[in-house]
Amino acid sequence: MRALILADIHANLEALTAVMEDARVRGGFDAIWCLGDTVGYGPDPNACLEMIWGYSLTVVAGNHDFAAVGKRTTDDFNYAAKASAEWTRSQLSKEAVRFVEDLPLSVIVEPFTLVHGTLRDPLSEYLLDQETASATLAMLETKYCLVGHSHMPFICSEISGDDRGPEFLDFTEDQPFPLPECRSIFNSGGVGQPRDRDPRSSYALYDSQEGLIWRHRVAYEIGVTQEKMRRAKLPEYLIERLNHGR
Ligand code: ZN
Repeated sequence: MRALILADIHANLEALTAVMEDARVRGGFDAIWCLGDTVGYGPDPNACLEMIWGYSLTVVAGNHDFAAVGKRTTDDFNYAAKASAEWTRSQLSKEAVRFVEDLPLSVIVEPFTLVHGTLRDPLSEYLLDQETASATLAMLETKYCLVGHSHMPFICSEISGDDRGPEFLDFTEDQPFPLPECRSIFNSGGVGQPRDRDPRSSYALYDSQEGLIWRHRVAYEIGVTQEKMRRAKLPEYLIERLNHGR
């Protein structure tokens, strides 16, 4: 079984299309695992959902997903995020609203648990340091965890017999990683709004037979997405940041 691992698609259809095509060229996939924030920020919320619905699909909720359907407050969102949540709400089809409202906060697909933020706070907390990683590892019921939310790719592994806490490693591009001996957390990076200063989409593939996980990057037509965002009158800040991957 091969899974395509997607985090933070953010309604970016050009990015999602490029990622799916790239994954097909790299041997394809049998299932899609989606780590939340499928909608919000970008101009194609319905089309992105429709594109993944055709596959064997596991999806968890992100803060922007629930904000868009009114299941989470936008009080902690900045002006641009609030404006995009309101715009997304005005666009979502009835079918899309029902789908997003029913998304779970976390799902187990052995040997992984899928969650958007952290297990302690699935929608809002960023897993970016030892403290947040340790708290999630303490709650983790499977050997591995897949997260999104920060749009920053990494592997974080518990080091057995070591009390220095979990260690963050580079989730190096195009390099096959055998699943670690130690319990680990992976972030595949952002599909639709990367924030690690590389504007290309970031995603991962997992092969259960081989026990391998890879992260890949692919360029997409940023200008096409930006033009749609301008036409939708989405905030310029959200349009501009796609150029810089931050
Ligand atoms: Zn996000």
